[in-house]
Amino acid sequence: MTRQQRRAREKADQDTLRRSGLPLQRDMTLLFAQTRVLLRILKNTASPARAAEAARHNLETLERSIRYHTDPAPLECRKGCSFCCHNMVAATAPEIFLLARHLKALRPADFQAALARIQAVDAAGRDLPPLQRYRDHIGCGLLVDGLCSAYEARPTPCRTMVSASVAACEASWRGEPARIPVPQSFGHLKSSYSFSLIAALRGAGLDTGIYELNHALRIALETDDAEARWLAGEDVFAGVQRDMASGAVQPQTELFLSVLAAGAAGEPLPANPWIG
Ligand code: SF4
Repeated sequence: MTRQQRRAREKADQDTLRRSGLPLQRDMTLLFAQTRVLLRILKNTASPARAAEAARHNLETLERSIRYHTDPAPLECRKGCSFCCHNMVAATAPEIFLLARHLKALRPADFQAALARIQAVDAAGRDLPPLQRYRDHIGCGLLVDGLCSAYEARPTPCRTMVSASVAACEASWRGEPARIPVPQSFGHLKSSYSFSLIAALRGAGLDTGIYELNHALRIALETDDAEARWLAGEDVFAGVQRDMASGAVQPQTELFLSVLAAGAAGEPLPANPWIG
């Protein structure tokens, strides 16, 4: 492929992502394109907010995918329904910094109230296993009167945690055995966007940990220059419960992330089953 053809292809891919996001079927070329943009944002050292900006870009593209490629008809999720906000939520560091920036932009009194709620939830649930937190009905620190108080900045799991049966959610909430039907499309999108961001973080030489939301957010809010220190390689989230530590991923996931990182950087791809 000539340089001109490569540029035309890149432009077409970015146009597709701007219009409709990633599709449900795994499209490696578009995944490379999405990861490439995230990598570019993360490597833009002129911006002290580049971690949060990468998260924002990924989440905005995810929203396009949801609007364009998923069917809302079977979903029974409604404003004010918050059973799922009592599950343990784990998010990448860029998503935590995006939430922190969102909260820091609030009026001082609202910020202090938000911080107090997050501190209280962290104190109540930090040492409990996820299932116990759910059974004890310890909600997310950002949940206020049944609504997400940081809705525009909420992370990937919150945007893809949907249900086709509110009765099942409620039964589970009461502690009864229940299988919550989640349309597969949301699981596919969650994987694609999470992998893109993690591969870009790898490519930029940054931490790929996925952290329990309340504890990590509390640290991001209480620590001076947390984002800058994290970008400089400091382990600011040491001690936070991790959902998927970078050292513990499955070999298949490891290979997929390596392929994505290489493809986004324009490097030779490792042997893989996804590209012939
Ligand atoms: S961030 Fe918002 S949507 Fe996600 S669990 Fe917390 S309150 Fe719910």
